[in-house]
Amino acid sequence: MNTKSRRLTGQVAIVTGASSGIGAGVAKAMAAEGAVVVVNYSSSAGKAEKILNEIKQAGGEGIIFKADVSKEKEVIDMFQTTIKEYGTVDIVVNNAGLQKDAKFHEMTLEEWNHVIDINLTGQFLCSREAIKEFLKRGIVPERSKSAGKIICMSSVHEVIPWAGHANYSASKGGVMMLMKSIAQEYAPLKIRINSIGPGAIRTPINYAAWQTPEAYNQLLKLIPAKRIGEPEDIGGAAVWLASDESEYVNGITLFVDGGMLLYPGFEDNG
Ligand code: BGC
Repeated sequence: MNTKSRRLTGQVAIVTGASSGIGAGVAKAMAAEGAVVVVNYSSSAGKAEKILNEIKQAGGEGIIFKADVSKEKEVIDMFQTTIKEYGTVDIVVNNAGLQKDAKFHEMTLEEWNHVIDINLTGQFLCSREAIKEFLKRGIVPERSKSAGKIICMSSVHEVIPWAGHANYSASKGGVMMLMKSIAQEYAPLKIRINSIGPGAIRTPINYAAWQTPEAYNQLLKLIPAKRIGEPEDIGGAAVWLASDESEYVNGITLFVDGGMLLYPGFEDNG
């Protein structure tokens, strides 16, 4: 591989929830661009190992690290271990997330808290540790024009309301304002924080929406591009947001959704 053309050469990236789905796609894409990747997982060590093996087979480097992003101590440990192992952290992808769907009047406090804890508090904890390290290290021009980059995995549901998923959409609305508020706070210090807003991507989280031809055809009604997204679609966007190609981009959500936000119901109506 031509290392000169790689966009993240020598940078250290932590990707949370990287043992499957979008996180795995992002971890592989960043490793292919020369980043050393910490493949974070919370329970599936075997799956995380498999992703790391794929990264290594493709010539990349990294480690796996078990941490529940909603637990302060585990997050701090993950950052300390990474810094001890690789010297610093340049890129953090706040990807870990889950759904616990329920009709709102039947939603338990536990279902509410679990989603908010992982999807929103997890992004707070990881972003805070990342920013501490970015501030301490500052800019290293050979690595990047920025002192550090954070990418928050949001969703089209930071703007599209979602009946039956109030905990999830509330968490993603929260991620949007967390991302924008800290982007505003740290942009003067050359730290960039942006989100990716995926639409429907073929991963375990929405298995029911694409597993049968009937479900898939229903889903396509929501996607003007007429295909489900793949984890690689998000990987490409994440690499760009982490690289100096997007140096002047700060505080945005980059929607990668095949046009899901284009009100597809209006295509032949209204
Ligand atoms: C959800 C998926 C859903 C997609 C589009 C994502 O944020 O996690 O389950 O398919 O949004 O609605």
